[in-house]
Amino acid sequence: MNGQAFFKTSLIGEGIWSISGPANDQMYLVQGRDKALLVDTGMGVGDLAGLVRSLTSLPVLVVNTHGHPDHAGGNGGFDVVYLHPADEPIMKKMCTNEYRLNDLKAFHGDGTPAFQRMAAGLVSFREIRMLPLAQGMCFDLGGRTFEVVELPGHTPGGVCLLNEEEGLIFTGDMIVETPVWMYLKHSLPLEVYLASLRKINQRRFDTLFPGHQPTPLGRENLEDLIVCTEEILAEPGIGKLERTFAGEGLLWKHGRASIIYDPKKLGD
Ligand SMILES: [Zn+2]
Repeated sequence: MNGQAFFKTSLIGEGIWSISGPANDQMYLVQGRDKALLVDTGMGVGDLAGLVRSLTSLPVLVVNTHGHPDHAGGNGGFDVVYLHPADEPIMKKMCTNEYRLNDLKAFHGDGTPAFQRMAAGLVSFREIRMLPLAQGMCFDLGGRTFEVVELPGHTPGGVCLLNEEEGLIFTGDMIVETPVWMYLKHSLPLEVYLASLRKINQRRFDTLFPGHQPTPLGRENLEDLIVCTEEILAEPGIGKLERTFAGEGLLWKHGRASIIYDPKKLGD
């Protein structure tokens, strides 16, 4: 199978491509006048680097919104990648070939044709040059600039990429319409996540590009997430038990938002 055939690509805005991977992974490529920005490298199944080269001839800056294997798993296809230092240990542990193959097995079933196809397209983990992201850093692509905004919660080193002038923000797994996973071992207390959401809510944007679906979200998704988090903190223990391949927690919903949380990890 041609390594680029794993991806579905569509132009969803001015110079903005949605790139959907085969493992429910979602990447974006944004082009400016002088440079392009790749948001996340996905699970590392398929030739993402080759695909990106076929879409743009500009130099490409590669950023991980956080260190999870479905966002940083394809880093091995690139020479230099930006990641927040707080997520580097997570990336190093969870993006190895073995870890990603186990995730794919858990999701698709061991030995299934889907699993075998993906295992054959796996981009190998390798030590590459990692550069640190920090609050307030800017990526100037020429005519459009994206600012790094820390949004700790889902992971300690999660970041969003914000362009207030155009009202655009890439949100990784921090603001999504699928349940936000806040029950993971390395997720921060819910109060920290709420503070992050309230902080980003002060900024100007109206189009949100989330980590797991190619359709942009609106501001109301963020507002619903804030209320959803407030409701859990006001009544710890609400929701029903939800099991995923990565563990279990309590699932609570409000409007378009839902969160799976650990009732023992609400505040300090
Ligand atoms: Zn994640």
